[in-house]
Amino acid sequence: MSLPTAPTRYDLTREEFGALLDGEPRYRLDQLWSGLYEQLADPADITNLPKKLRERLDSELPLALDLVTESVSEGGDTVKFLWELDAPTGGSGSRIETVLMLYPDRATVCVSSQAGCAMACGFCATGQAGFTRHLTTGEIVEQVVRASQTAKASGRRVSNIVFMGMGEPMANLDRVWGATERIHGDIGLSARHITISTVGIIPGIRALKDLPLPVNLAVSLHAANDELRNEMVPINKRYPIDDLIDACAEYLEVKNRRVSFEWAMIDGVNDREQDAKELAELCWKLRPSAHVNLIPLNPTPGYPTKGTALKKVYAFRDRLEELGANATVRRNRGTDIDAACGQLAAGQPVTLSKKP
Ligand code: SAH
Repeated sequence: MSLPTAPTRYDLTREEFGALLDGEPRYRLDQLWSGLYEQLADPADITNLPKKLRERLDSELPLALDLVTESVSEGGDTVKFLWELDAPTGGSGSRIETVLMLYPDRATVCVSSQAGCAMACGFCATGQAGFTRHLTTGEIVEQVVRASQTAKASGRRVSNIVFMGMGEPMANLDRVWGATERIHGDIGLSARHITISTVGIIPGIRALKDLPLPVNLAVSLHAANDELRNEMVPINKRYPIDDLIDACAEYLEVKNRRVSFEWAMIDGVNDREQDAKELAELCWKLRPSAHVNLIPLNPTPGYPTKGTALKKVYAFRDRLEELGANATVRRNRGTDIDAACGQLAAGQPVTLSKKP
């Protein structure tokens, strides 16, 4: 499926906005830019702009995403947005998801970088559904802005962005990077609070290393030997573990940012003593140590295996620590609204509170 040709509200760069405002006094650009990105306002609500201009901007710069449902988890600390793409042309039927997670000390938005995913990891709901298309920079930025508007409405400010929604960011790196620059430079988040997660596309990691901002790199490792990883993460056949670790080491060296490994724990598959040992060895190669995020596998319809029991997940963490690797257990968020890691599949039924 092809990308939209007409730009939407958050696609345009500052320079492109300048051209659109040609003939207006120069300070209008500052007013518009700060209205959109600092106040997170819609053009119609940027009241220091003349009404006529607001109306023109509103119609010339439509939103890209149509809200299908907004689901709130029990307790209210996780919000999942289901969007339909191509809103300006009436909607294409393709859907993506964004998750807002409110913690006591921070608020994180998990964004999608593609509609669907071509990486075909069997345990991941997005992978099971296949690839539809890349997202534009504007579609990625809009997810952040609109989730931030929801956070703002309850008095919270988004502090962290993780590219851990649907899609493989490295397969769409130019647009992901365009969005990262906007999130950093215009919305004002620190690069240290932005994490790009990859299935392990080595050329992408190398390209990211040569880009200026020190964003965090997360790698979805899940297995520490090629035989098992080839099965779980098919792209490993093209980018095997030793080469992947070399690319991570280069990233660490250049950016001086900790690299983290994602590890979805699957009962009897990657939660054994031998797995802990192999994983710890890989962690040591990224001195002082890569950080391991342990996620008990979330059940998805297309994958028969079950997640490791929580007690065993903690025992695995302790074992990794004993072996000298850093590890934390990532609490599952939003399982009740199908918003947990790997569950984003755009269209699974949701039974809890829905708007609109
Ligand atoms: N394609 C990128 C971004 C997706 S991030 C990447 O692979 O890193 C989503 C994270 O959730 C990845 O670490 C992914 O492997 C993990 N994941 C996928 N399915 C899962 C599941 N069923 N349970 C737990 N984690 C899962």
